Amino acid sequence: MAAQIDINELHWLLDIVQSMDVGVVVLDRDYRVEVWNSFMQNHSGLDGGDVMQRSLFELFPEIDRSWLTHKVETSVMLGTRAFTIWEQRPYLFPFNSYQPITGLADQMYQNVTILPLRSSNGATDHVCLIVYDVTGVAVNKRQLESANLQLRELADRDGLTGLLNRRFWESCLKKEFARHQRYDRTASMVIFDIDHFKSVNDTYGHQFGDDVIRMVAQITREHARESDFAGRYGGEEFVVLLPDTDLQGAAHFAERLRKAIETRALDFQGQPKNFTVSLGVASLEPEMQAHQQLIEKADQALYRSKESGRNRTTLACE
Ligand code: GH3
Ligand code: MG
Ligand code: MG
Repeated sequence: MAAQIDINELHWLLDIVQSMDVGVVVLDRDYRVEVWNSFMQNHSGLDGGDVMQRSLFELFPEIDRSWLTHKVETSVMLGTRAFTIWEQRPYLFPFNSYQPITGLADQMYQNVTILPLRSSNGATDHVCLIVYDVTGVAVNKRQLESANLQLRELADRDGLTGLLNRRFWESCLKKEFARHQRYDRTASMVIFDIDHFKSVNDTYGHQFGDDVIRMVAQITREHARESDFAGRYGGEEFVVLLPDTDLQGAAHFAERLRKAIETRALDFQGQPKNFTVSLGVASLEPEMQAHQQLIEKADQALYRSKESGRNRTTLACE
């Protein structure tokens, strides 16, 4: 008979189960605890005396009873193992994580194997839960995911200013244009270019020129809304896409921006230096066939701002 194990062997087996670095829990068919190894004691703070013959759901009311019983009953019925993995459900037992990586995981992530135990008479009258601490794996995966997200974000941004780069900004405009066509939503854009920038570079040097570009980008960020898309379109040329904003609204935005740039000084060797920009504003119109037409219209308005004296805003309809 399989149950005829030498009493010494039984002690060894219990020793092994006790010292394993995984959780071992045996439950009867009423979910009462019959085996609770030292891993479970250490992490729950409950020793054998606290838990023996008590219902798992009484001991851990946080456990989703209907979910676990469904899993266990299916496993018993089929006579096969079942698994739960942390990606689907981070943990079964609410244990703290003792990993030295604070802030990233307060809870222990767990994979659990559900093992139906058949007794010598063939009946499955117990179930074993084997609990694996997978916090290290989970934290690494989460870190990798967040690094990938940051990388993807970086790929959409301009290195000098942190604004959206031209490629990504244009893809935003394309989406906005599709929204406009489908739902008849309005949107506007502002394009602007720093005045006499060649002479800024020539007079103060390229390095200072870069500082001016960064300052203009910063002021743009301060004035744009969360829902706007601010991008660096070229060397010293910028664009802002304003969803759900009509031409008048965009013109107001452009003028506030122009004045803010005009008044903000940048220090060059102890001397405050001021800069100006010329702006063009355009709105989506029903007859537009492609998103590039909005850029063209705004660009023509910018050109007129340059021609008529710079440091000014021109609307595409004028
Ligand atoms: P306008 O008022 O007509 O715009 O005159 P402008 O001198 O600004 O003329 P333009 O826009 O053609 O000149 C742009 C200059 O900007 C030329 C280029 O050397 C400089 N530039 C482009 N990208 C950068 C950059 O990243 N850093 C610096 N420092 N200069 C840049
Ligand atoms: Mg310029
Ligand atoms: Mg330019």
